[in-house]
Amino acid sequence: MTDAPILVVEDLHVSYGRVQAVRGVSFEVPRGGLVTLVGANGAGKSSIINAVSGVVRPRSGRITFEGSDITRTPAHRLVKRGLVQVPEGRQILGTLTIHENLTMGAWHSGAAGRVAIDATYDRFPVLADRRNLPAGSLSGGEQQMLAIGRALAANPTVVLMDEPSMGLAPLVVDEVFRVIENVRESGTTVVLVEQNARRALRAADHGYVLASGEVAHSGPASALLQDARIVEAYLGIE
Ligand code: ATP
Repeated sequence: MTDAPILVVEDLHVSYGRVQAVRGVSFEVPRGGLVTLVGANGAGKSSIINAVSGVVRPRSGRITFEGSDITRTPAHRLVKRGLVQVPEGRQILGTLTIHENLTMGAWHSGAAGRVAIDATYDRFPVLADRRNLPAGSLSGGEQQMLAIGRALAANPTVVLMDEPSMGLAPLVVDEVFRVIENVRESGTTVVLVEQNARRALRAADHGYVLASGEVAHSGPASALLQDARIVEAYLGIE
């Protein structure tokens, strides 16, 4: 067991043509921790998650996972190595069954993947009961559970979740956050990107507040929640 962070991002820059979406972002994620990146629409959160998970190529910077440089490692290799994304908007394949969606998540994991799918059904009985139905028949909240379950089926050591509460009713958001905390309690490291900053900071150990592609504030999540400047600028009245 080592105290070294499992994930380190240093001076990350991501651009789309002339649009500089991420401008020199650095952060660290301790093994087994729950770190959140919060910020308004367009702050650069998805671009960071996509760069870390190998979906987007950074313009510059360095990303280290379990001590190895993964800055330009493609997503499918990272999934095999245990770094998996739950994408924004869930990206469920609605015409495939729930079981087929989970099987796709477990694609690289062989027998361990089958065990992980069974564990996913134990965690989400609603998916187990409906495993042979098209995933498109699930509600938004259930589809989010399926997206999380599909990531867990790959047996990840780190899960990067992009806006898992987006578009869901408040009670369903509560459920999604319970699942996220439960994933972390089971030993998986979680990086959580959220516009719902207050909720995300309540769940996290450590937070990074992003604005215009840069880290505007960072610190223990509890300290960020108590900082009047941050509450006023980013969290608003409850
Ligand atoms: P959201 O919550 O809306 O997803 P975000 O904080 O995740 O916002 P990004 O999606 O990373 O932010 O976007 C950061 C900036 O990069 C924005 O100005 C956005 O318009 C721009 N951007 C994102 N993706 C692309 C793209 N594929 N092509 C061009 N510009 C993009």
